[in-house]
Amino acid sequence: MKNIAILTSGGDAPGMNTAIRAVAKYAMSKGITVYGIKRGYAGMLNDEIFELTPKDLGGIIDRGGTFLLTARLPEFKNPEVRAEAVKNLKKREIEGLVVIGGDGSFHGADLLYKEHGIKVIGIPGTIDNDIAGTDYTIGFDTTLNIILDAISKIRDTATSHERTYLIEVMGRNAGDLALYSCLAGGGDGLLIPEKEFSIDDLAMQINKRREQGKLHDVILVAEGVGSAFEIAEKLKGKVKSEMRVTVLGHIQRGGTPSGLDRIIATKMGAHSVELLEEGKSGLMIGIESNKLVTYPISHAWESKKEIDIKDYELALTLGH
Ligand code: ATP
Repeated sequence: MKNIAILTSGGDAPGMNTAIRAVAKYAMSKGITVYGIKRGYAGMLNDEIFELTPKDLGGIIDRGGTFLLTARLPEFKNPEVRAEAVKNLKKREIEGLVVIGGDGSFHGADLLYKEHGIKVIGIPGTIDNDIAGTDYTIGFDTTLNIILDAISKIRDTATSHERTYLIEVMGRNAGDLALYSCLAGGGDGLLIPEKEFSIDDLAMQINKRREQGKLHDVILVAEGVGSAFEIAEKLKGKVKSEMRVTVLGHIQRGGTPSGLDRIIATKMGAHSVELLEEGKSGLMIGIESNKLVTYPISHAWESKKEIDIKDYELALTLGH
């Protein structure tokens, strides 16, 4: 394989730059020419494609976000749009494409392979950790650590004022960010979309903690269950303590990628090149039990990532 390209697509995630660097540097070490595509599939369609040089890759290993930029192009679901976009790859004789993103981005990649023979490898990059076939997606660990830092800070003020805080965290329809920030941050309650919950039980739990002499409560609310403000409204009148809501928002998506994110991004990035060199295509890379694994790329949207029930129950038990 002589020429490959990389793009980032969907929501950005810390560690995407680290993955781009690994793909490009590893490929260059094998004598492969590497093209960067700006703004995901939008840049493929608009011909925003340029050859990456070692200079482009300097100083990005620890930079959050994606220097290739990311975008959403709903029109890419249209086969004619894909046929138009692929012309910009073909004219540069690009045979392989590494797509860093979520399941939607992988879907687009799979179609490029099936319809136009471009060899594609997917690398899971999203803070949500919602892709089946991998224990961790790139960005999840960094975001988890940002949330943990926020919990510690909020707990200080929560204790001083003896308040109950509802902290709304990202994750889209997945509860992993809330679950593991509750587990590792000592959360006192957890609401995630994968599990039913009762407002009355939560209120009872908060009141019981106060009877035990506890001075604060930190409740993790995954955005997938709805607005934390609405949950607070439902708790009003049932909870004796004063309540506050903090929505962490986009601060969760920025910043220096963590060590774990950089390690998995680097290993997955290099492995994507190895797979392309072996002539493989239509695969996504994951990490399971600390080993790199591959699945058909369709695994990302055909299988649903389940939450770990034992971890969920442990978070609830320790939160009581
Ligand atoms: P995240 O989980 O961070 O949102 P994602 O990759 O799932 O990432 P999407 O917005 O679903 O994000 O998809 C990103 C892009 O991939 C879309 O804007 C579109 O260009 C392309 N895409 C998504 N679904 C399809 C599909 N079914 N067919 C072709 N292209 C698709």
